[in-house]
Amino acid sequence: MPRRVVILGSTGSIGVQALDVVDRSDGELRVVGLSAGGSWERLLEQAERLGVRRVALADAGAAARAREAFDGEVLSGPDGLVSLIAESDCDLVLNAIVGSAGLMGTVAALGEGIDLALANKESLVVGGDLVTQLAQATGASIIPVDSEHSALHQLLAAERPGALQRMILTASGGPFRGRDASRLREVTVEQALAHPTWSMGGKITIDSATLMNKGLEVIEAHHLFGVPYSEIDVVVHPQSIVHSLIQLCDGATLAHLGYPDMRVPISYALHHPDRVDVPVAPLDLVSLGSLTFEAPDEGTFACLRLAREAGLAGGTAPCTLNAANEVAVHAFLNGRLTFLQIAEVIERTLERLEPASVHSFDSLADADARARRVAAELAGSLRV
Ligand code: NDP
Repeated sequence: MPRRVVILGSTGSIGVQALDVVDRSDGELRVVGLSAGGSWERLLEQAERLGVRRVALADAGAAARAREAFDGEVLSGPDGLVSLIAESDCDLVLNAIVGSAGLMGTVAALGEGIDLALANKESLVVGGDLVTQLAQATGASIIPVDSEHSALHQLLAAERPGALQRMILTASGGPFRGRDASRLREVTVEQALAHPTWSMGGKITIDSATLMNKGLEVIEAHHLFGVPYSEIDVVVHPQSIVHSLIQLCDGATLAHLGYPDMRVPISYALHHPDRVDVPVAPLDLVSLGSLTFEAPDEGTFACLRLAREAGLAGGTAPCTLNAANEVAVHAFLNGRLTFLQIAEVIERTLERLEPASVHSFDSLADADARARRVAAELAGSLRV
């Protein structure tokens, strides 16, 4: 029997690579639902090619146009996403939506007890304990797609609880590694979008350049693996060959290595616990010659420090951090903020909004909306 999969965010970078993994699966994976934000033409092309009869679009106008062109079912808005997940009789949901908009898909899948392949790290950053508690309550598994967390998931699978002492997330350092603040003032959107090792969607590429991506990943790892922040380190590794490491109580350090290709962790998550062939070159250490490591510069790249502080503060702080980051990155991409002002907007938003405890997903939605308002106001008051 094929594994029935719904792919959320199928028109994006992870979504398209996931469809490549499905194409190569010899029928072991069958897509039964697809979703996107507003790219209805691309979504319908995917649906027609794969014989998918049900799709969802977040944007109501795009959904209306898609309905005129598609003879299957077109769902729309937040309710449409929930229906897509709940009514597709699927075994697995891949959440590859970008931003906190992905939280709803995560909650819908886990709430239905459906296993979740999670690329949308923002779900765990924002939803934190509520998300992991929901998974525990329904018995659904969360299998990470982020390459570092996929590596950690694989490394930890063979270890007994109690053996782990530290986890080490690797970071490429992004395109501006080694620069000080004076050399970051004038960087352009094009320079920030030119990631040295990974090809990804726009938002995560900017997050990689500011190191916010690594900060979000520290929070993600804390929730996924139940490890305290004091036991999660970050090391910059520009070649992106070592995807993460664990240190164990007997002095052993285990690492996960491979060329950077997101189809590897996507395939791991979609086929878990099986492993299948992925067309990547076997690692050739001799031709690589050397791998290098250095400490992150949290003074210059303040977003990593801010994320760690928000994670430690807990409550609504990571939600505020994430919302402010989404607003600031969007403003940077549209030429309304400079690169360094991204961190400034996030820090000032966090200063303005005291963290509160989180009782429900509704309280998170309120915190998210509040943080977006404050961050937008701050972004508007700064001059490029
Ligand atoms: P992209 O921007 O390439 O794609 C995002 C997807 O989400 C698109 O399908 C987009 O649809 C959809 N989308 C956007 N806004 C909404 C919304 N409001 N509601 C519903 N769907 C929406 O992002 P990536 O693929 O790069 O990243 C996706 C997630 O995976 C992020 O959380 C990222 O951090 C994570 N990730 C990505 C990696 C990568 O290599 N790209 C690596 C590790 C993690 P549309 O096309 O219509 O806009």
